[in-house]
This record gives sequence, C-alpha cells and structure tokens, in this order.
Amino acid sequence: MRKFEKSKKLDYVCYDIRGPVMDEANRMSAQGIEILKLNIGNPAPFGFRAPEELLKKMNDNLINTEGYSDSKGLFSAREAIVTYCRKKGIHEVGIDDVYTGNGVSELITMSMQGLLDSGDEILVPSPDYPLWTASVTLAGGRAVHYICDESADWYPDINDIKSKITDRTKGIVVINPNNPTGTLYSKELLEEIVKVCRENGLIIFADEIYDRLVLDGLTHTSIASLAPDLLTITFNGLSKSHLIAGYRCGWMSLCGDKSFARGYVEGINLLSSMRLCSNVPAQSVIGTALKMEEETKKLLVPGGRIYEQREYIYQALNQIPGISATKPKAAFYVFPKIDTKRFGIRDDERFVLDFLKDQKILLTHGGGFHWEKPDHFRVVYLPEMDQLKSACERLTHFLSYYRQEE
Ligand code: PLP
Repeated sequence: MRKFEKSKKLDYVCYDIRGPVMDEANRMSAQGIEILKLNIGNPAPFGFRAPEELLKKMNDNLINTEGYSDSKGLFSAREAIVTYCRKKGIHEVGIDDVYTGNGVSELITMSMQGLLDSGDEILVPSPDYPLWTASVTLAGGRAVHYICDESADWYPDINDIKSKITDRTKGIVVINPNNPTGTLYSKELLEEIVKVCRENGLIIFADEIYDRLVLDGLTHTSIASLAPDLLTITFNGLSKSHLIAGYRCGWMSLCGDKSFARGYVEGINLLSSMRLCSNVPAQSVIGTALKMEEETKKLLVPGGRIYEQREYIYQALNQIPGISATKPKAAFYVFPKIDTKRFGIRDDERFVLDFLKDQKILLTHGGGFHWEKPDHFRVVYLPEMDQLKSACERLTHFLSYYRQEE
C-alpha cells in the first residue's frame, strides 16, 4: 500500500532558472493560467512514481530514523555507497571517504566552500548545470568555462580545457552523463581529461547523478576509476534514478591521493558536521535503492517512458524548421540549437519569455546554463507523450510567425 500519496495540486519548486522568465511564469500561474513546464528535471509532477519497495522501506524505517545520524551519514548507507563505488571500479574509497547530503546540491556547495580561496579557479563546462558555477562563485572562486562542442556530440574540447588552465586552477567539473546536453562521455575522452588533470595537478569533481539513466545499452564509466592516483570527488544520488528528488538524498565520495589535501578534508568534515547530518529516512534506503537496478532500467528500454519520450522529442524537434538537436544518450534533457538568423534572435532569454507568454510553455534558455551564444534552449522531456506532442506542435506554430524585434 502506498503511504506517501501526493496531491497533484502540490506546487513543485522550480530550481533551475531565476529572473524575468520565472517571474513571468509565477505571475501567469498566480492568474490561474496553466503552464506546461518543460524546464524542471523533477520526475514526480509528470507521473513518474518512486518504486513501491523503496517507499515501503522508508516508511518502515521512519521509527528508527528519528534522530540525527553521524554527520557523514548512516554507516549502512555509506557501506552501500562504497560497494557501489567498487562495482564501478572505484577502489580507492573507504567508508570515511563518503558523505551523504541533502541532495547532491548541498554537497556541491560544501565541496566548493571547503576548497576555494578568493580568486581560485575551477573549470566548469559550458553549457553547465548552473549550480556548479553558482557554488564556485559563492565560495569566492572564479568559474572558468570550457567549451563542450556540439559538432563533436557535445564532448568537452580538450584543447580549450588546456588553454584555460592557469596557476590558480584548482580543479575541473566533469558532468557525465550531462545536463543539459544528455551526452554520455566515452572512456577514451575521460582518459584524455584525466591526463590533463594529472599533468596539471587538478582535482576532479565528477557529477555522475545520471549514471543509472543511460540509454541505448551504453555503459557509463566513472572517471574516478580511471584516476586512482588523483583526488577525485564523485557525486551521485537518488533524485533522478529513483524518482525521489523531493526526499533529498545524495552523496559524494573522495578517492585517490588525499595526502596534499588534509586541510581540505578537514574543511569538508567541519562543514558536514555544521549541518549536523542529511535527511536520515532518505539515507536509510540507499542500500535498498542501489540494489534495485531493474525498476530504473524499465524506463530506459523500448516501451519505457524515458526511451520512448527521447525517441519522440529528438525526431519532433529536428522536424521543426530552424531547430536541430543532437540525440541525447542519457538523462532526460535535450539541448537543441535554434537558427538565430532565421528568427532574428539576439536574446535567448527573450525568446523563451516570448514563447512562454504566447504559448504558455516554459523552457530554459541556453544562457541559463552559461552558454554564451543566444542559439540554444533546454527541453526536459519528462512530461507525458501527449504533452510533449502538444509542446512541439505549439513550438512549430510559434516559430512560423516569430521574429524577434529590436
Ligand atoms: N547535478 C546535476 C547535473 C543535476 O542535473 C542535478 C539536478 O538537476 C543535481 C546535480 C542536483 O541533484 P539533487 O540535489 O537533487 O541530488
């Protein structure tokens, strides 16, 4: 029996854009206008439900998870995470190297706050998951964006990475599988990144929250498994793979050479204990969740929702005159290109705002992911197929007359 029935009317918090587009969406919602939200990487509002078994387990555990846990997390949860790391070829990790968090988000912030002095630089992809840039900046550092190349399947441009390393560069963020592009990196590419990090003494921040959401029978390689000699912090969590974004369950594991990073590890320990601990009921299901691979896999094969919706959105977007998209291989995002000349687009935020006002559909403009040119936007393809179809029809219609004025 499902004990955590949610009201459909619950308003889900949007985390990934701020500014005029979000302000307008809030204003429209307040007026009772229904908006189709293709901007949120949050599965629950779109009819995705967490596995029954997981919810039952959490419910059963509630009575034993009322108190604070160890600040790094329950021993059993961290033990399960270590087992998972080993399965992925990350052997240089022990229970003390694992920290659970209220989502990966909290740990991203913590990992930057513990590391950066004013003016230190971190290489962050462009396009990025914007929380990384925000966390670097809030910690007093400078996010230096390296280019991911659409013509090369959105792979990071290694020469661009090399050209941006300075004596202030402390580390590099590698988001694989990637949000917003949906790309999955090959082992060869990851090896090239590791080589650059090895040559320049960089810490690797590996955001792998989508590693269990890989399509087309492909395999995810954890970059830490290729760099046992380098300090690598790997981030993962249950928000996406187990459809429980609201329960706030993530973790990070430190592996590799920590000998030069004693102060950093002390800083992380301090920050971890300052927030006392992460959500304990959510931690208590990590072990169960990491053994439940089949539930997630069902979504990713022909007939599964994520697979079928990916097939549809990829084809439908590419059929719209002036739009082209690289096929995503993981996660549930696509980052299409829009022909700026054809539509006179100079401001991508304005394009998204105009589309919202006109068609009541919310997208995220490329600039929201620190993509410099005004020629991309992100679509979250989680909504049901009929909603995706309606969105593509409305986008086609809108673009048949849209021209951005001066
Ligand atoms: N990292 C990436 C690449 C994401 O896309 C997200 C959420 O969308 C997160 C981290 C944060 O996830 P959470 O805080 O729910 O674990």
